[in-house]
Amino acid sequence: MQVSAYIGLGSNIDNPLSQVKSAIKELNAYKDIGVDAASNIYRSKPLKIITAEETQQPDYINAVVRIHTSLPPIELLDILQAIEKKHKRVKEYHWGPRSLDLDILLYSDLILTSERLTIPHKELTQRDFVVYPLNDIAPELDIPMHGKLENILLSISKDNLVFIERYVDVGGVIL
Ligand code: ADP
Ligand code: MG
Repeated sequence: MQVSAYIGLGSNIDNPLSQVKSAIKELNAYKDIGVDAASNIYRSKPLKIITAEETQQPDYINAVVRIHTSLPPIELLDILQAIEKKHKRVKEYHWGPRSLDLDILLYSDLILTSERLTIPHKELTQRDFVVYPLNDIAPELDIPMHGKLENILLSISKDNLVFIERYVDVGGVIL
């Protein structure tokens, strides 16, 4: 059985734009995953500036894709983490710079809380760099426990989000 899921992508070191684009292609290359739609690509400021060190963080590049998959959520997470690893993600500290961050935002209408997975993603409805890209590809979305995306957008400013480009396939992703 195939289900739809939404994946959030973020990167802020080592050529983030190309990391995000290549991660979309890598996802699509898995036989059990197909990418159906990709959002525009945005630039956003790092979250939670706590120490002087963290103020050094470069801006993020963010996007969201819709996939269809036959994989259960935990196996999908395994694949996302394998892709992160391949991009040599080194996590220096929580919310620290990362070469690639891949999150399961939504998985069908599933609500799940387990040790490795919280779905819908915990901060989904508070993050400008998630809700606006989601709106690009699924404006009608009804988010389990949170309601209509169009209502969530009303309380989140777009001011810190900069449109970079429309996602354009350059290597076989069907969009
Ligand atoms: P964040 O994505 O919030 O910046 P991290 O990527 O560093 O934080 O968090 C990684 C951990 O989050 C993983 O070990 C994973 O098990 C857990 N996690 C919980 N829910 C999800 C989800 N929906 N998608 C991806 N990872 C998740
Ligand atoms: Mg993550």
